[in-house]
Amino acid sequence: MYTQQSDVTVIGLGKMGAALARAFLRAGHRVTVWNRTANRASSLQQAGAVFEASAGAAIQASPWVVVCVSDATATRAILAAPEVATALAGRTLVQLSSSTPQEARVLDAWVRGQGADFLSGAILAWPSQMGTEQASIVVSGPSAVLRRHESMLRALVGTLEHAGEAVGAACALCAAVLSYMAGHRLGVAHGARICEAEGLKLSDFGETLAAFAPGLGQDSRHMARVIESGRFANPETSLETVGGDIARLVQLSREGNLSDALPRFAAGIFQQALAAGYGAEETAAVFKVLQGVVR
Ligand code: NAP
Repeated sequence: MYTQQSDVTVIGLGKMGAALARAFLRAGHRVTVWNRTANRASSLQQAGAVFEASAGAAIQASPWVVVCVSDATATRAILAAPEVATALAGRTLVQLSSSTPQEARVLDAWVRGQGADFLSGAILAWPSQMGTEQASIVVSGPSAVLRRHESMLRALVGTLEHAGEAVGAACALCAAVLSYMAGHRLGVAHGARICEAEGLKLSDFGETLAAFAPGLGQDSRHMARVIESGRFANPETSLETVGGDIARLVQLSREGNLSDALPRFAAGIFQQALAAGYGAEETAAVFKVLQGVVR
């Protein structure tokens, strides 16, 4: 059995790890912290956290250990220290470092092999949102383990989603969201180039997008439901219409001497969907191209 000095240990005090530790402190928890670069702990120590000189000693201090470092490789580097494996027994480790589903499965097997419980999570928030209603965390792993620690996780976020017992689920869901974000970020950057070339104020463009955002949420929900049901017929907006919009973006980019890399890439995929005969279907039918139905 361990001697419990803290409620929770946070391993990793980068921007996100430090924000997690601060949120736990604000919620009134006793917090132990460890970071490879010790001086990153100073402000947290001033706020009441206990800093331990080794990861093993920090893990020893609490029944519940949250790891938030750059990635799964960094996590494994920390956990590889011999005293860490011993310290882990009987504890719950929550991996909040961004990982792939496969990395989560491998770490789950290793952690359980040390006699500890494991939850894999993904943070959908910025550090400044941590501990507020705006922050979300998706976790996966055994429901019974989550139930034991749910109140601690709720100190961090407004929304806590259990993606299921399959330990890779949270990372998979987060990867799917990041895939969406990749398109979003490139789209904002390309849109900003269009506005810049036409002398429009970029802050106005930002406001237009923000006003449009709820509609994007509805569209995401609609596309997911269409794909899930496989009902692509009778769309309100056809794939052909959207494909035409994207082809016009290529034209506009060339006319304005802008990079056409993004619209050309998107137009290529829509072209495949049109060539496959999906033009009269829902825009979501582009999924069938990515599924490999059309190569
Ligand atoms: P960060 O500020 O760059 O901090 C990286 C952390 O990882 C530091 O504590 C660093 O320790 C540690 N680290 C890296 N390699 C290590 C190694 N080999 N051994 C030991 N420690 C190592 O990153 P962050 O923003 O806190 O992000 C942490 C995680 O949260 C990432 O997986 C990220 O994807 C995820 N996340 C971040 C955000 C965000 O907006 N920041 C949002 C959602 C999710 P040192 O201080 O010693 O370098």
